[in-house]
Amino acid sequence: MGADSGSVQAIRDRIARAAQAAGRDAGDITLIAVSKTQPEDRVSAVLAQGQRVFGENRVQEAAARWSARREGLELHLIGPLQTNKARAAVGLFDVIHTVDRARLVTTLARLARERGTSPALFVQVNTGDEAQKAGCAPDDVDSLVAMVRAEGLPLRGLMCIPPVDDDPAPHFNRLREMAERNGLAGLSMGMSADFETAIAEGATHVRVGSAIFGERG
Ligand SMILES: *Cc1c(COP(=O)(O)O)cnc(C)c1O
Repeated sequence: MGADSGSVQAIRDRIARAAQAAGRDAGDITLIAVSKTQPEDRVSAVLAQGQRVFGENRVQEAAARWSARREGLELHLIGPLQTNKARAAVGLFDVIHTVDRARLVTTLARLARERGTSPALFVQVNTGDEAQKAGCAPDDVDSLVAMVRAEGLPLRGLMCIPPVDDDPAPHFNRLREMAERNGLAGLSMGMSADFETAIAEGATHVRVGSAIFGERG
C-alpha cells in the first residue's frame, strides 16, 4: 500500500457513515476498487484485505492484470471503450460503465447475440456537456437508454464523471433525475474526492482508486 492510501476497511467505514447520514443501506452501495496503473504489490495488498470488486479503465491492461486470476472477482470497465476492443471487453468484464454511443450499443448487441450473454451495462452521461469528454450528451440519454433496451441488453443504470472544477453535487443530482425518469436503479458516481457526496445523492456504485491504493504513479 502507498503511504498516502487508506485501507479498504477505512473506505468501507466512510461509505457506511455516508449511507447512514443519507438514511440509506450501505449494502446497496458497491465499492469498486479502481486498480488502474497501480503496482502489483498494492493490488495484492487490497486483495488480501478481501476486496473482490475492481475497476480498470483499459481493456488490455486489465486483461494482463486479471485474466490469470479472474475467478471469484467482479471486474468493471470504467474507461472509454473503443468499438474494436468491445469483443475483448465483453470477454473479460462483468460490468461496462461507459456505453455512450449508438455504434457501441450495436456492437455490444451483436456480441451478446453471438455469445448468448452480455456484461451488465451503464450508459455514461457527459453531465457537464464538456467538449472532448466521453459520455453521451444529456439530451441524448433517453434515446440511448431506449436503444440499449430495444436491443435486449442488461442495462443497470447511468454513470458520470463531473467536470474537475465543478461542485459535483449538482451533476450527481442531475444524473439521478435522468435515471429516475428512465426507470433505472443504478447510479455509478463518486470517486476518491467525492464519493460521500455521491452517496448522499444516491450512488449505488462508487469508483474509488487513490483513496484505497495511494496516488497513481
Ligand atoms: C481513475 C478513475 C476513478 C478513480 O479515481 P480516484 O480519484 O483515484 O478515486 C474513478 N472513475 C473513473 C472513470 C476513473 O477513470
